[in-house]
Amino acid sequence: MRSDTVTKPTADMRRAMADAEVGDDVLGEDPTVIALEQEVAGLFGHEAAMFVPSGTMGNNIALRLLAEPGTEVLADNDSHVVTYEVGGLAAIGGVQTRTVTSRRGVMSAPDVAAQLRVDPNGGGGSNYSRVETRALAIENTHVRSSGRAWRLAELEALVAVTEPAGVALHCDGARIWNASIASGVGLAQYGRCFATLSVCLSKGLGAPVGSLVVASEDRILVARRLRRQMGGAMRQVGVIAAGGLHAVRHHIDRLAEDHARARALAVALADARPGCVDPADVESNIVVFEVGDSAALLAEARAGGVLLTAISPTVVRAVTHLDVDDVQIATASAVLSRIVAADSLRGPAPT
Ligand SMILES: *Cc1c(COP(=O)(O)O)cnc(C)c1O
Repeated sequence: MRSDTVTKPTADMRRAMADAEVGDDVLGEDPTVIALEQEVAGLFGHEAAMFVPSGTMGNNIALRLLAEPGTEVLADNDSHVVTYEVGGLAAIGGVQTRTVTSRRGVMSAPDVAAQLRVDPNGGGGSNYSRVETRALAIENTHVRSSGRAWRLAELEALVAVTEPAGVALHCDGARIWNASIASGVGLAQYGRCFATLSVCLSKGLGAPVGSLVVASEDRILVARRLRRQMGGAMRQVGVIAAGGLHAVRHHIDRLAEDHARARALAVALADARPGCVDPADVESNIVVFEVGDSAALLAEARAGGVLLTAISPTVVRAVTHLDVDDVQIATASAVLSRIVAADSLRGPAPT
């Protein structure tokens, strides 16, 4: 339960991969990649999409489509883009990131509006020194905030302040499938809010590899050049894309099961140690809970057969996915409940 990245391809997925028609995708001739790109673009109501090896490359390319060197991208202070991507936007793209304070990953429209740096006079003049804001990146679901899904009204409020300023919206949608199932907002409804999206096939959807950048046809043409420049253009990659296509067709609706199991675990933990997690905060497949000492708890959990990740010295994460079933979640709940109830470094449970 360390992450939903640990899933392995199902037997049906492996068959689809083995049977995939392939071609040279650098020449634009892989029919399976083309089918995947068209299908995913359609799901989000966009013109085009491009297959990439990872979500990190997807975010990097998408944001560089929106922001040229010497400009900035705003992102929430706890986002994947500024936490887990080795500063790639700056290192590779020459683009500065500036963080916006968020509450569980959600930035308010007034907070964003106050941080936009755009020149109402179209540049030049006394403002030639200023770093111009080109884009705002949001993360849906938000991984470090126990998988919170954005509400449509929250996004529309951001569109209302960024669009008039000419600032584009990007979605780090590594788990946008989970967000859609959790919130009831359709993928196309989410898609409408963004100039670009990066979506992952290898998280809860269970494909072994791959993400897509979703955008307009014009932008995807530029994206293909950036992908090539980064060494991310691949040849007979339909073998891999077929796993993603299978995942998109068969593994989206079942995410509701992962969400129910995550909620069940959160309820068990909250029973064992009141206050360590609020089950109402667990909307999708990520359970983030407070402990006395993450390292000690991880070791005890491991001894009990449950693998977790620490996201801080006192905060631990458990993730449900395709390869965690009802029996396993019951076992994990029992093992972790016993450990958190005895978690000796913590003070008395809050009343
Ligand atoms: C996993 C993840 C990514 C991309 O990760 P890769 O390992 O590069 O595929 C991007 N954003 C979020 C929020 C993620 O959880």
